[in-house]
Amino acid sequence: MIDLSLIFLVILGITVEFTLLYYKQRFEAIPIYSIFVPLFLAFKGISDLYLTILLCLLGIIIFILKEFSINFDADQNVKLNNILLKTAFTILIFSITWTFTNFFAKHFTVLIIFFIVYSYFYAITLIGFVNNIVLSDLRRYLLDIFEKSLGDKVSIDNENKNEIFEKLFINVSNESNFLPFRFVFFEYFLLVALLCLWYILCLIVKVFFSDVYSIFSLHSFILVFFSYSMFVYILRFMYNRYNYSFVIQHLRELVDSTLLSYENKTLSKELEKLKEDRDKLVSWLKYLGDFYSNLDDNPDYEDLYNSFYSIVSKSLSFSRFIIFIFERDEVSIDCIKPVFHRGIGRVDLYLKNTCVEVVINSLKPVYYFGGTVFSALALFKDDRSFICSPIKIGNKILGVAYVSSLNTRSFDEKDVNFIQLICDKFAIMYILYKEYSKTLNMAIRDGLTGLYSHRHFQELLSKEIENAKLYGYPVCLLMIDTDKFKQYNDTFGHPMGDELLKSIAKLLTSYVKDKGYVCRYGGDEFAIILPNFYKQDAYLLAEQIREGYKSFRKGDIQISASIGIACFPIDASSKDELIKKSDELLYIAKREGRNRVIVA
Ligand code: GH3
Ligand code: MG
Repeated sequence: MIDLSLIFLVILGITVEFTLLYYKQRFEAIPIYSIFVPLFLAFKGISDLYLTILLCLLGIIIFILKEFSINFDADQNVKLNNILLKTAFTILIFSITWTFTNFFAKHFTVLIIFFIVYSYFYAITLIGFVNNIVLSDLRRYLLDIFEKSLGDKVSIDNENKNEIFEKLFINVSNESNFLPFRFVFFEYFLLVALLCLWYILCLIVKVFFSDVYSIFSLHSFILVFFSYSMFVYILRFMYNRYNYSFVIQHLRELVDSTLLSYENKTLSKELEKLKEDRDKLVSWLKYLGDFYSNLDDNPDYEDLYNSFYSIVSKSLSFSRFIIFIFERDEVSIDCIKPVFHRGIGRVDLYLKNTCVEVVINSLKPVYYFGGTVFSALALFKDDRSFICSPIKIGNKILGVAYVSSLNTRSFDEKDVNFIQLICDKFAIMYILYKEYSKTLNMAIRDGLTGLYSHRHFQELLSKEIENAKLYGYPVCLLMIDTDKFKQYNDTFGHPMGDELLKSIAKLLTSYVKDKGYVCRYGGDEFAIILPNFYKQDAYLLAEQIREGYKSFRKGDIQISASIGIACFPIDASSKDELIKKSDELLYIAKREGRNRVIVA
């Protein structure tokens, strides 16, 4: 006779399994651990407290073993939560069972119940371990599909490949019904083997405890219990066999969609990076335009250095920026001077054995992106990263640029390329500036004295008269002629005369400074344009110049100056009139005995 309570339990078990299958798409052994065994005890009216505690503990051990053997890929916290939840549930059920059966207590052999339940748990745990083997087989199986799907997608590197596969595998192994049927088949045979073992053990128990239990009810219990388990496994086997092609298809789809989403992600990331690079390039090109716009009628090196500085400061963050320019063609480390310096620190640097020397010798950029140690090549002890680039045209080095930061990793390879690019443009601009200034000077300067030429004098005076008209200020013109210069020439020779003219030019420039323009009007005659100058001040300046001439004495000849001063608009209403007037006054000064200043 089969125990009615067992039949009821099996029906209940199958109902639970089907419900689980329907809602969660998987089978579970949990109902047996924590519901059926206590229910069985309750039906049998077994109320032994120690037995209940023992079974409860066994259940908990089983859950722990299961969590660590089957869900080996799961997160540690998830495992712990699972165990705690199931433990609490088991304790609750067993407590209810014990309270309930206490009223219907009957004598039943503790050992037999212990033996049956423990063995069953043990079998389930064993299946759990087998599942691990199954999962590793599944892993190989999935890897095969994965590798095939990867095909020629070479853009995915090994590290990413592993990452994608691990994610994929966790997804698939969570769906336990996607186990290929051959693995379920293996599980089934294991169960049959266990059943045989069971039977042998039962026979042994029968021999030793024949007086305390009914062999019939024990056998029926075991048989029904395992038939039920087998039924579940066969069900799973049938289910998977039926769905085999679907399972494979599903795995393939899963692999493809995972790969596709990964590729999309990589592509959009790459696109983002390209866009960033493009924006950077556009702004670099824009900054480069600043260089060219600086080349005007009056090239100023300071402007050029400032352009370089502002281009770099818009693109990088740094603590120091220095431009070194070599004054002589022959580069020697001792004659290198910083011509531009921004940021903290002194500029009287000792350059020997630094990156500057290495750059001069190698003509290549030297850089250090930082690390735990300080670079011995850095110009400052607290520089944690730097880029040092040659300013060169071909193999001719003109200077060196140095950009540094107090922080490590302030720069990267791209920044080195950027600095080199700007240095190359700067070198071109520097040469252009130099040549342009030279040509410009040749056109407007007198070759001997370096003063403005007669032609440029005319232009300057026109411009200043225009400005004076516009802003309503006076312009004074000093006409200076050197007295007895012919005699000086005749006595000491023409070259000495030239030297005297140069000295006079220096003297005039030193007195006028940036207050006006000193020009060589012709021969030994000079003109000084003094914009925004009143006659009185012009006179004082002229007197100073006349005094200054006293230093030009050689032998018996004392050189002096005759000066005529006229001012616009009081003495003349136009440029030509102003020249004529001051020239006339100069000749009056000559006539009146030279070495004097005549003011209009
Ligand atoms: P005065 O006091 O009247 O000015 O007499 P002066 O001897 O200075 O004579 P004047 O100004 O008329 O002559 C200028 C001379 O300067 C004539 C010319 O030989 C000389 N001279 C003109 N240009 C140069 C030059 O570039 N170098 C040299 N050494 N002499 C020059
Ligand atoms: Mg003269």
